[in-house]
Amino acid sequence: MARDLSPSCKRCRREGEKLFLKGERCLSEKCALSRRGAKERSRYSRRASAYALQLKEKQKLRLMYGMFEGQFRRFFKMAAKRGNPAIGLLLLLERRLDNVVYRIGWAQSRPQARQMVRHGHIAVSGHKVDITSYLVKAADQIELRKPEGASAQERAELVDTTKLVPWLSADSGGKKAQIERLPAAEDVADIPINTQLVVGLYSK
Ligand code: SF4
Repeated sequence: MARDLSPSCKRCRREGEKLFLKGERCLSEKCALSRRGAKERSRYSRRASAYALQLKEKQKLRLMYGMFEGQFRRFFKMAAKRGNPAIGLLLLLERRLDNVVYRIGWAQSRPQARQMVRHGHIAVSGHKVDITSYLVKAADQIELRKPEGASAQERAELVDTTKLVPWLSADSGGKKAQIERLPAAEDVADIPINTQLVVGLYSK
């Protein structure tokens, strides 16, 4: 399956939901979904069936984390093997290296974080890792590796330690962070996804 190269906001409009693909803009009034009528034009808007609602929720979660269908399904199977897939899936997705870079604040959006990982800007416990789906472990040290030029340096200075999720910590210089512990159920409670619908879809 080819990667969806359509503009980020268009993907949100298609799903009728905010996917938070453009950093600060997503939280501002400039967000295309904040404008009236955008939701109503979503492809799921008219008398959606139970299946359509499940599909919509799965697509929303998959696109938020920027994953292909096959990779997303593998994550679901991994979560199902570990017990409760509704929560387990979110916990696994949060541990992805690109998501961790986004959560630290080195990138304004997950797509930007993914690019940083792919371009070799990130090291985990002293080793360069350019695999976006790499799952971090407790006590891993995440480092901005040889920030090339001002842009990476500027990103390092963007880190706002007061906004960090509780399972991460970052140094004030903004170039190093640590996984204090693995994310727990309470850490993913505010992710706006009904994962029971995703479980329902894949359990058919
Ligand atoms: Fe989606 Fe962000 Fe664009 Fe809003 S600004 S439509 S949330 S990508």
